[in-house]
Amino acid sequence: LMENPSSLRVLSSHVRALSSDASTLPIRATLFPGDGIGPEIAVSVKQVFDAAEVPIEWEEHFVGDTVDPRTESFLTWESLESVRRNKVGLKGPMATPIGKGHRSLNLTLRKELGLYANVRPCYSLPGYKTRYDDVNLVTIRENTEGEYSGLEHQVVRGVVESLKIITRQASLRVAEYAFHYAKTHGRQRVSAIHKANIMRKTDGLFLKCCREVAEKYPEIKYEEVIIDNCCMMLVKNPALFDVLVMPNLYGDIISDLCAGLVGGLGLTPSCNIGEEGVALAEAVHGSAPDIAGKNLANPTALLLSSVMMLRHLGLNDQAEQIHDAIIKTIAKQKYRTVDLGGTSSTTDFTKAVIDNL
Ligand code: NAD
Repeated sequence: LMENPSSLRVLSSHVRALSSDASTLPIRATLFPGDGIGPEIAVSVKQVFDAAEVPIEWEEHFVGDTVDPRTESFLTWESLESVRRNKVGLKGPMATPIGKGHRSLNLTLRKELGLYANVRPCYSLPGYKTRYDDVNLVTIRENTEGEYSGLEHQVVRGVVESLKIITRQASLRVAEYAFHYAKTHGRQRVSAIHKANIMRKTDGLFLKCCREVAEKYPEIKYEEVIIDNCCMMLVKNPALFDVLVMPNLYGDIISDLCAGLVGGLGLTPSCNIGEEGVALAEAVHGSAPDIAGKNLANPTALLLSSVMMLRHLGLNDQAEQIHDAIIKTIAKQKYRTVDLGGTSSTTDFTKAVIDNL
């Protein structure tokens, strides 16, 4: 072949044809509708994607009824294989029964897929008034260790122990992601959130790693803020923050606090970034059992998560189209869901978003 330039030309034009086909072919993405309100809001996303003619083909996976020994949880091995193969997916919330023996579904996903960073943008929605109108920050949560390592045991009766694991490898990886994110998204500052004054070893190592990475990014300002002070500052003046990077547990808590600043959990999206380019988008909120099955859930958080997924895939036109339709629908007030003070059902809100596409 190498000796025959004409065959080489045929081959390269074939490859070009294949790659241009590939850009128009549907992209396969894994969808976990999840528990509680998950299936209702997943339907919203599917309907909006259909209406916007997004070239995504969903590979839908449900949580199993029995523990799969290969995942040690109710998540099936096939569903994990689906994400590994597609490298991109959207997940609804998954309930975690308190105190039950098997491995949490979310923990399993994070561990098995190496989802090391959870990116949670939080911004004031134009047209939806809260106490602040200038929130525009991103929390980046270490997603695989800390207090959520799943290492808990009873020492003796009446005494239990839970291990907080912090490693240099995971801390460097999430810090690098945060600084790279800041640099590539036009952000000015990274704040490392910690409690190293008390957790000297664990949070101390986390901070050391953040400092090391900060030196590689002299154009990005770097600061360290103790978690309790951070909470106070966020509530007083959230505009003080830009990108925040932190260990797992703090990220879980702070991002809910941030959701509260802009209107609640019905609005805030996230995306989990994993090894080998895997991206699994999901809403910040949980399965909301109190409103599940009642057609009351706000699908905005999952829809905005799907927008993050589309941006990750480079489908920017569709991402902006859907994003703008959501903002327009909320700003118009008529079809706001109950959590935003409206009376609209999940299905009516979804229809309104589709009308605004
Ligand atoms: P939650 O986020 O499910 O609910 C907290 C409150 O916010 C509830 O009042 C709920 O009605 C409301 N809410 C949440 N999402 C909403 C939406 N889209 N529209 C309107 N209102 C909404 O938190 P929880 O009650 O502490 O947790 C319930 C279950 O979800 C637990 O089993 C928990 O472990 C799980 N959970 C899962 C995830 C995840 O899968 N990533 C995240 C958090 C909690």
